[in-house]
Amino acid sequence: MADSWEQLKADCAGCRRCALHEHRHNLVFGDGSEHARVLFVGEGPGEQEDLQGRPFVGPAGKLLDDMLEMIDLDRSRVYIANIVKCRPPRNRDPLFTEQDCCAEWLQRQIALLNPEIIVCLGRIAAAALIRENFRITREHGQWYNVEGRAVTAIYHPSALLRDVSKRPETFEDLRGIRQQIRAICPEVYQ
Ligand code: SF4
Repeated sequence: MADSWEQLKADCAGCRRCALHEHRHNLVFGDGSEHARVLFVGEGPGEQEDLQGRPFVGPAGKLLDDMLEMIDLDRSRVYIANIVKCRPPRNRDPLFTEQDCCAEWLQRQIALLNPEIIVCLGRIAAAALIRENFRITREHGQWYNVEGRAVTAIYHPSALLRDVSKRPETFEDLRGIRQQIRAICPEVYQ
């Protein structure tokens, strides 16, 4: 039977495939338009996301909203998801085993959305979706063809909060994303 958002949400709800379910307040499935052409993928929920059940709602989320606004986008025109759907303790990197357990949910989100463009937010998402040994400091802003989709990575908003010196490079990367959207799926801006 063909997959659907309703089926996927029902299958994912209450997931206990890895130990991250033990301390979660909420599973953070995703947010945005289920018809979006552009998908943003972070690594996992933080404290506020865990409490509210939505991705990118803390300080990093506010910065992500600002970044979207800079390229004339907002959450209603994109979809936002994470590599793992439950908060890792103390915001540590998700383990490979946890990422593997959780991979089905994101893969089904990608299959349902079928986005033309995927933007990885940070090293963990880039390693999962572009290449295991992805070097975010050297390769951010570059574009890759992954299974027919245009995929890039930029610094995670949390990294930009910690280190403002990375922001000018990210502004440049964001301009590149806007160019790609205009070239590949201009309807996003109509
Ligand atoms: S992180 Fe993913 S695999 Fe682990 S319990 Fe949460 S939804 Fe399930």
